[in-house]
Amino acid sequence: MMRQYELVERVLSYDPEADEALLNRAYVYAMKAHKHQERANGDPYFSHPLEVAAIVTNLKLDDATVAAALLHDVIEDTDATRTEIDQLFGKEIGALVDGLTKIKRLDLVSKKAEQAENFRKLLVAISSDIRVLLVKLADRLHNMRTIEHKREASRKRTCQETLDIYAPLAGRMGMQAMRDELEDHAFRWLNPEAYETVTTKLEQLRAKNKRLVEEIRLALEVKLDDVGIESKVTGREKKSYSVWRKMQNKQVSLEKLSDIYGFRVTVNSVEDCYRVLGVIHTTWRQVPGRFKDYISTPKGNAYQSIHTTVLGPQSQRIELQIRTQQMHDIAEYGVAAHAIYKDAGSDNMDAERFDQDSGPYMWLRQLVETLLEGANSEEFLEHTKLELFQDQVFCFTPNGRLIALPRGATSVDFAYAVHTDIGNAAQGAYINGRQMPMDTRLRNGDEVRIVTAKTATPPAAWESVAVTGRARGAIRRAVRDKLRQQYSELGRRLVQSEFKKYGHDYSDDLVKEALPRMAAGSKSPDDVLASVARNEIQAVEVVKAALPGKDLVEPVQAYKPKSRYGRGRSQEGWFNLSKVMGLKFRFSAAGDSAQAAGASSIPLRGLRDDIPVKFADSGVVPGDRIVGVLTKEKGIRIFHIHSPELMAFEHEKWIDVTWDVDAANAERFPARIEVTALNAPGSLADIAQTIGETDGNIDQVQMVARKPDFTRMRIEVEVWDLDHLNHILNGLKAKGVVNSAERVFD
Ligand code: MN
Repeated sequence: MMRQYELVERVLSYDPEADEALLNRAYVYAMKAHKHQERANGDPYFSHPLEVAAIVTNLKLDDATVAAALLHDVIEDTDATRTEIDQLFGKEIGALVDGLTKIKRLDLVSKKAEQAENFRKLLVAISSDIRVLLVKLADRLHNMRTIEHKREASRKRTCQETLDIYAPLAGRMGMQAMRDELEDHAFRWLNPEAYETVTTKLEQLRAKNKRLVEEIRLALEVKLDDVGIESKVTGREKKSYSVWRKMQNKQVSLEKLSDIYGFRVTVNSVEDCYRVLGVIHTTWRQVPGRFKDYISTPKGNAYQSIHTTVLGPQSQRIELQIRTQQMHDIAEYGVAAHAIYKDAGSDNMDAERFDQDSGPYMWLRQLVETLLEGANSEEFLEHTKLELFQDQVFCFTPNGRLIALPRGATSVDFAYAVHTDIGNAAQGAYINGRQMPMDTRLRNGDEVRIVTAKTATPPAAWESVAVTGRARGAIRRAVRDKLRQQYSELGRRLVQSEFKKYGHDYSDDLVKEALPRMAAGSKSPDDVLASVARNEIQAVEVVKAALPGKDLVEPVQAYKPKSRYGRGRSQEGWFNLSKVMGLKFRFSAAGDSAQAAGASSIPLRGLRDDIPVKFADSGVVPGDRIVGVLTKEKGIRIFHIHSPELMAFEHEKWIDVTWDVDAANAERFPARIEVTALNAPGSLADIAQTIGETDGNIDQVQMVARKPDFTRMRIEVEVWDLDHLNHILNGLKAKGVVNSAERVFD
């Protein structure tokens, strides 16, 4: 295990101004915090953060990052808290450690390969400071180096995740060496046979080609020396995983791949790069189409080099990369390499480019911006800036699918993003295991479980809760469809009843056949039926169109229906009011209850306010004699038979309806009562108490007249049914202070 002073010295070696005391404090703190913990191989746990810090020093990162590396597991794994870290080490380090803790918590969620891209974005979004990602990669690298001590299942998972998420992330940050090592570790455990085969082959080929490679290398060096270019030529080691991947992707054999000899020429200046290129191209024959100048046009991840392929002394293919040492370091260490060239810009390494006053590690942020603005940015974070991710939140389904949503999105958006059917059937949401309102705004990393019900329809109000177009559109559509369906269903009942009246059986087909005889614009039977419900067409018109040439004789009403509140009697027919206002009613479309209610009974359905059945404002309660009126755009409105509002409609428009309420109905209905009481102290309280004791809900109280000796008030109460309402009225009348108590409808 590295000693404390060794770590400090390593940091001081590349950053003499590093805060020694800070590093010492972080070292001691982390060591104490992890004191009683062990790693899978029995080592003290502290060896892990220490090794991670060591990797971070190889990347020559600043003291704050090294401290964060030492502390990266303390919040999640020990008693330490963010507040404590902030107090002891400052907010900057606190934020870094906090970022690492958040990522660590995400590791608990399973990630599917197809979600890897989103997951990488999530990492970037959560990190907000690129140093968090650098420590995370160092953390993962050390874990991969020591993964043989892990249990098989978790090892496989970690390796797959490394391959899917962390290695590509390292690649995108330009850290080729990090990427290679991560990949080779993962490859070794995920596919041991292939790893063994490729590694063995590569070693054999290396041994076999050793002399040839050395010959070419020398020839190159001599050539360059002749023209006075100082250079270093190295053979390029092939990495087992990248060889394997090429074999898989390009369907080529390992032998074929190994036919190619790779060399890297490192020189001192950009000018020398081009001079080397000139020498090589005039010495050996160039393979057409293989020349790429990533110096004048850097890759998105700031990678710079000249690539070319020539046919060598014995006509072997020789792949060459020509670059400066600085370009090489950037190619190997990516964003981290910029620590070495702290004050350098990225394209022409122009020292003036970066603002010296903007903080020592401003280069990191600026680098990211430079990387992202690169002409060829497709390989880097999908054209997207770090900040752009701030516009998104990334959440998980319970089985680990990652859902990307715009910031401000709610569980409603989430449900629709998973699937439109899920959104339409959504009833509620659990966020991180806790039930939360559907309008809760989601945060990065939230796990959201949507509770669904087959019969659910999204409430229209959800449209304003959703922020995604997808959810809004789907809600609007679902509400509209439901409404249309309710109207056509209502119309069907009305038309069915009308058919019965004339002694004929109804069928949808008859309406369909009648379409050409109906008013223009009716495209389907449902359209026609909905028009009936909206009172645009009379039900009798449909009957006439459906039964052309038939002599329609209006029959005598023959049924006397029974129902629980079967006191309502009509001349024209009977209707069962069913499932009105989203309430539970017994549905009597068929079977016994339909029989009992009369053959022409019309069960009316409806939900909430946007439905074709609506109660009058003065209220109706089960047991009341009620009358329906078919109104345009409002479907059927239900009035008490004594309601003055009802008198506004011609008697011909009245439809008799009757209650058929489920005994288990748990909904209350509004009614309006008027109470006249003495102006005695506490009389209002007395009235309220009486209503409360008899299980009534007072919704509203309004004083209508106040005399010296008495007060008249109107009270909106919510009751179960007419019996209940009468019980309340009787209770009130029995009170000494109450003069009168009666139901009113105006
Ligand atoms: Mn760790």
